[in-house]
Amino acid sequence: MSVLVFIDHADGHIKKTSLEALSYGAALAKQSGLAAEGVLLGTVSDDLAALGKYGIGKIHQVSEESLNHLDAEQYIRIISQITQASGATILILSHTNTGRAIAPGLSARLRAGLVTGATGLPDTSNGFQVKKNVFSGKAFCTVSVKTPIKIISLNPNVYPVSAGEGSAEIILEKIPVQASGVTIKSVTKATGEVPLTEAEIVVSGGRGMKGPENWGPIEELARLLHAATACSRPVADSGWRPHHEHVGQTGIAIAPNLYIAIGISGAIQHLAGVNRSKIIVVINKDPEAPFFKSADYGIVGDAFEILPRLIQAVKKLKGIA
Ligand SMILES: Cc1cc2nc3c(=O)[nH]c(=O)nc-3n(C[C@H](O)[C@H](O)[C@H](O)COP(=O)(O)OP(=O)(O)OC[C@H]3O[C@@H](n4cnc5c(N)ncnc54)[C@H](O)[C@@H]3O)c2cc1C
Repeated sequence: MSVLVFIDHADGHIKKTSLEALSYGAALAKQSGLAAEGVLLGTVSDDLAALGKYGIGKIHQVSEESLNHLDAEQYIRIISQITQASGATILILSHTNTGRAIAPGLSARLRAGLVTGATGLPDTSNGFQVKKNVFSGKAFCTVSVKTPIKIISLNPNVYPVSAGEGSAEIILEKIPVQASGVTIKSVTKATGEVPLTEAEIVVSGGRGMKGPENWGPIEELARLLHAATACSRPVADSGWRPHHEHVGQTGIAIAPNLYIAIGISGAIQHLAGVNRSKIIVVINKDPEAPFFKSADYGIVGDAFEILPRLIQAVKKLKGIA
């Protein structure tokens, strides 16, 4: 019996969210007296055996290049097969776009209870209970899972990556990739150096930025902080920024360590997507802006005066000014 962690990758590299899932899976395995293993579909340039340092003993790999892009049908079929063959009783995924696409199908196929968006390790002292966010992060609930196989998708940025020593054994699985009902014709990558859902720091702008021509300082600050850029919904709706940057109830929900909101009022629908951020910094010229109520740090002032000063301060701190 084991805890099996799905390892996701892009451009040949393991995603940070998967390192969190591996650390989480290894901790859960230790807590439950089970072995920790991984499953990876496709090929990567990263050293897979080195993932053993996150606490897993084996990685089941289906080394087929056609699996480097998500195909939910194939992924669900192959991961289900490996879960059953390896005797795994707990399957861990990240609650990312990929995790969201395959978790329900895995749950149906394996007849497994699924908890999406877990925020911490399960309590296994009396059954199997997992805490998760509900109502766009406004409340928590605890779900008890009783099925023989259990699936958890872990929210990004809630569990720390913890590395030690060790090397994982790679088991090459000979599972045929079937003809797919899906053909990927082209892949268009989102601009920006850091993917929004994986970013530890996010710099976000709202309608207070007045127009798309003023985004230079936001992008510069993001570059300096190795952060992703985001925006409020009206900014995306007006075409000032691409839609994949829109965060909130109807956009992407994120949980970075630091969220810097510039010229955003803090409407409830915006907060729904960012209120799981660890630290929120708000820059707004209106001291009554609702966002200040949710802020850890607030700067009341004109963004066009504060941003250049903030950029200078960061440059000075980094020794490049
Ligand atoms: C069903 C529904 C779903 C929605 N989903 C989302 C969602 O997912 N995400 C989302 O963001 N919104 C969503 N909205 C819209 C939401 O209600 C707000 O209208 C929106 O978030 C406001 O965007 P904003 O803060 O950028 O703009 P505004 O509300 O116009 O606020 C601009 C802010 O900038 C400040 N400001 C102006 N000039 C400056 C300056 N020079 N320096 C500093 N500060 C300045 C102002 O004081 C103000 O607080 C949704 C609405 C509905 C009805």
